[in-house]
Amino acid sequence: MTTHEKTYEPAECGHCGGLGCTYCNKTGTVLVTAPKRLCHHCDGVGCIYCGFTGWTGPKGKYD
Ligand SMILES: [Zn+2]
Ligand SMILES: [Zn+2]
Repeated sequence: MTTHEKTYEPAECGHCGGLGCTYCNKTGTVLVTAPKRLCHHCDGVGCIYCGFTGWTGPKGKYD
């Protein structure tokens, strides 16, 4: 039996471009599901689908 644990990797917050905002806890970096992929809804700009991080599968409230 194989378990697929999600792994995460850091990515630059797409909302603030690394400057720090509420979506990245002012770190400029967010943890996203590896391998990181730009959100196809907004192309990395940030939208409700990606939690305004610009990345697909951000770690956060859904864990
Ligand atoms: Zn940010
Ligand atoms: Zn998005």
